[in-house]
Amino acid sequence: MSGPRPVRAPRGTELSALGWQQEAALRMLQNNLDPEVAEHPDKLVVYGGTGKAARDWRSFDAMVRTLRTLKQDETMLVQSGRPVGVMQTHEWAPRVLIANSNLVGEWANWEEFRRLEALGLTMYGQMTAGSWIYIGTQGILQGTYETFAAVAAKKFNGTLAGTITLTAGLGGMGGAQPLAVTMNDGVAICIDCDPRAIERRIEHRYLDVKADSLEHALQLAVEARDARRPLSIGLLGNAAELLPRMLAEGAPIDIVTDQTSAHDPLAYLPLGMDFDDMASEAAKDPAGFTTRARESMARHVEAMVGFMDAGAEVFDYGNSIRGEAQLAGYERAFAFPGFVPAYIRPLFCEGKGPFRWAALSGEASDIAKTDKAILDLFPENESLARWIRMAGERVHFQGLPARICWLGYGERDRAGERFNDMVASGELAAPLAIGRDHLDCGSVASPYRETEAMLDGSDAIADWPLLNAMVNVASGASWVSIHHGGGVGMGRSIHAGQVTVADGTVLAGEKVRRVLTNDPGMGVIRHVDAGYDIAEAVAGERDVRVPMREG
Ligand code: NAD
Repeated sequence: MSGPRPVRAPRGTELSALGWQQEAALRMLQNNLDPEVAEHPDKLVVYGGTGKAARDWRSFDAMVRTLRTLKQDETMLVQSGRPVGVMQTHEWAPRVLIANSNLVGEWANWEEFRRLEALGLTMYGQMTAGSWIYIGTQGILQGTYETFAAVAAKKFNGTLAGTITLTAGLGGMGGAQPLAVTMNDGVAICIDCDPRAIERRIEHRYLDVKADSLEHALQLAVEARDARRPLSIGLLGNAAELLPRMLAEGAPIDIVTDQTSAHDPLAYLPLGMDFDDMASEAAKDPAGFTTRARESMARHVEAMVGFMDAGAEVFDYGNSIRGEAQLAGYERAFAFPGFVPAYIRPLFCEGKGPFRWAALSGEASDIAKTDKAILDLFPENESLARWIRMAGERVHFQGLPARICWLGYGERDRAGERFNDMVASGELAAPLAIGRDHLDCGSVASPYRETEAMLDGSDAIADWPLLNAMVNVASGASWVSIHHGGGVGMGRSIHAGQVTVADGTVLAGEKVRRVLTNDPGMGVIRHVDAGYDIAEAVAGERDVRVPMREG
């Protein structure tokens, strides 16, 4: 019988599948569940609350078995983490097509989802969990770093030195926050109710120290702030209790955000509950737990608004905490903005987003070589160079070595083609899997996050992610996915992903060029359509065809 066991992707050049495209999907599926990578691998949970890579262990085994025998002209179909068919296609077609967690609009809520999940009919795919391109906390690190850099630019003369950031959530994604703040020279107090999350971030060098108490955390923070010394401090506790306390005591906080798993009320610890009882309480009475969690989130968000009123820079970090607090009846929940309209949208207009690649060889030296190639390709981009150098020095790899950097339209294809050449020449030990997060410029409809406050009011239009998936299928991606509910929870988002394998062949080079042009191209045309001047200018300068501009 199949059940939990440690999973790790094979390394090296020996194939267990019939080609590198299939081998890449196999290794990336396994890599998502590597104990170094996944938050709860025994439950197949990769990150983001209950974001899973496979529905159950039997499905996982069936996917592994199928990928090992899948031919170059076949495609495996995955329905919410379970392989449901193999169809004959052709060699330009993706080897895997994935649809995760999708529900018809009126049924698209957590209650119905959980009912279906309990029947074994679906799973929550989050964003890169069910689409097999999660690369650990680094995956979000550059975006978090860029966001805090934008906060610094907007309000603190370009540096976080001499400021204190207060946040919560040190999980798979949220764990990037402390390092992103210290990379911007600031001080961060990061609350989590799970002692293991704090330990893990310290172990991986994302977090510097752990405080013994709130008083201790504030003392450490103020000392470091006054010395303009970067420092990140973990603090054990419930954010819904600690934030209001800190506000009431007048804690000197400059920036406030949050990355607890608020998108899923069953993954947010309610006030007055012990962390150790959380899982059993959630299972015993999901409806009662949800109500308590939402009420706690309302207190949490109320304190965030209080910090804003007191002059701090406050933003929602893409976990839907404002929406949940509003459901609990807190009226000022949306008083502060989401991070996309506040800082990220101009990047989206250029087709920029979290581009990433993983070395299927398992060798860190392959990533070091690709880092050099990026520095060489884009010498004029100072902040990219700063990121690549810092990442090389400070990022601890989890699972297969990987790298992330935000590149836009006209850049990703150049990087991808160079990488494919490096595989072909033997400079790299094995092929690369090149993909991106779903938190992206042109492949997401998510009115509380990526498409919050669009200029033309098109926040909830979900045609774009579907077009994105179709164009990636038509362009030669190796696997393509369409998900619902990632990041912000059921009913609140629809998004698509792609991964394309650079295996050094001429065919892969052609696929990489098309996919890595068209995929970020979706970000440009989506924002042209919504009326953004930056996107218009990019389309004009870089020859992106938009029929409505041509008449
Ligand atoms: P995760 O489940 O791995 O971690 C969440 C952490 O929150 C856990 O460590 C948990 O112990 C902690 N937590 C829960 N309730 C708490 C409370 N009341 N007080 C203190 N700590 C509490 O999730 P993750 O992958 O880190 O994602 C965090 C959130 O960010 C999710 O909602 C996710 O959808 C969202 N997200 C944001 C981005 C972004 O770019 N901003 C990207 C992806 C995901």
